[in-house]
Amino acid sequence: MIPVKSYAAQTEGATLAPYNFERRSPRPHDVHIEITYCGVCHTDIHLINNDWGISIYPMVPGHEIVGRVVAVGEHVKKFKPGDFAGVGCLVDSCRDCDYCNEGLEQHCANGAVYTYSAYEKDGTTIAQGGYSTGIVVDERFVLKMPENLEPSKAAPLLCAGITTYSPMRQWNVGKGHKVAIIGLGGLGHMAVKFAVSFGAEVTVLSTHAGKKADAEKLGAHDFILTTDEEQAKSVASKFDFILDTLSASHDYNFYLAMLRAGGKLVCVGLPSESINVPSFNIVFTRKCIAGSLIGGLPETQEMLDYCGEHNITADVEVIPIQQISEAYKRMLASDIKYRFVIDMKSLQ
Ligand SMILES: [Zn+2]
Ligand SMILES: [Zn+2]
Repeated sequence: MIPVKSYAAQTEGATLAPYNFERRSPRPHDVHIEITYCGVCHTDIHLINNDWGISIYPMVPGHEIVGRVVAVGEHVKKFKPGDFAGVGCLVDSCRDCDYCNEGLEQHCANGAVYTYSAYEKDGTTIAQGGYSTGIVVDERFVLKMPENLEPSKAAPLLCAGITTYSPMRQWNVGKGHKVAIIGLGGLGHMAVKFAVSFGAEVTVLSTHAGKKADAEKLGAHDFILTTDEEQAKSVASKFDFILDTLSASHDYNFYLAMLRAGGKLVCVGLPSESINVPSFNIVFTRKCIAGSLIGGLPETQEMLDYCGEHNITADVEVIPIQQISEAYKRMLASDIKYRFVIDMKSLQ
C-alpha cells in the first residue's frame, strides 16, 4: 500500500481537514502518479455538502488532477516514470458494455466509477480524489498531458475543459456558426476559448456588466448583458448554438428565444429545479434542448492534444491547500478568474 496525505471531509458539510490514508499498490495495469496540482470544481462543493444526496464519506475531493508518473505496473504500455499525466472525473467503468466499447465510459451501462465520492469496482473501497499527494489509476483512465502546457493551468482541462469541448464537438461548432455561452465562470471561460478557437462567432451572455471586458479579453466577439431588455431583444433568433453553463436555476425559455429555428441549447450545469419549457417553444421552430456530461477517455485525450497544439489552458489562481475553505467562499461569490488550482507541494 502507498501512504498519501490529503484533505478530506469526514461528514456532510464538514470543513476539509488533513487526512492520511493509503492507495493500493499498483496492479499490472496501474499507473501511480505523484500529484502536483488539482483544480477546484464546483462539484467538489456540491458533493462535500451532499447537495445531490449521493455523497460518500470520508471524501477527498478533486477531479482535475495532474502530476508525474512515479511507477507503473508490469503491463502498462502507455506510460513510464517521469511522464506528465492527468486524471479527470472517471477512474474506472465496466470496460465491456456498448458505451465503454465506444469510448463513452461516462455513460457506462454498468456504472462508471467517479474519481471520488464513489465506490471502486470491488464495492467496498471508497475512491478518493486529487486533493492528495498521490493516486493510483488503471492506465485506461489516465490521460497523457501535453508537455508544453503549464501544469497548473492544464489541470482544469480535465473537467472544465472536456465538459465544454465535448458538446461543441458533438454538435460541430465551427466557422460560420453564431454561438453564445451563458455564464462566464470556470466552464464558461473555457467554452469561450474553445468556441473562438473552432472559428465560431462567439457571444457571452451574462448578468454581470463587469464581465464584458473579460469576455473580450478571452476572445469573445460580443457581450450581451441579459438583464438589459434592449440588449437581450437584440439577439432574438440569432444563435445556432447556445452552451448553458449555469448551475443556478434560470428560465430556459428566455434563452430559447435567442436561438434561430433549428438551433440547439445544450446544458452542462445542474440546477436543482426542473426545466420548464412549453412544447410550443421548441416544436414550431424545431429547437432542441440537450444535455452533455464530461466526455469519454478517447475524447478527453483528443481535447488535451488539441489544447497542446493550440496552446489552450485555463486562467487560474494557484493556492496552497490550507486556503481551500476561503477558496470555496470566493467561488460561491463568483470571486475567481476562473479556476482555483491547489499546489500540492503545500501538502508535503
Ligand atoms: Zn468538475
Ligand atoms: Zn461499461
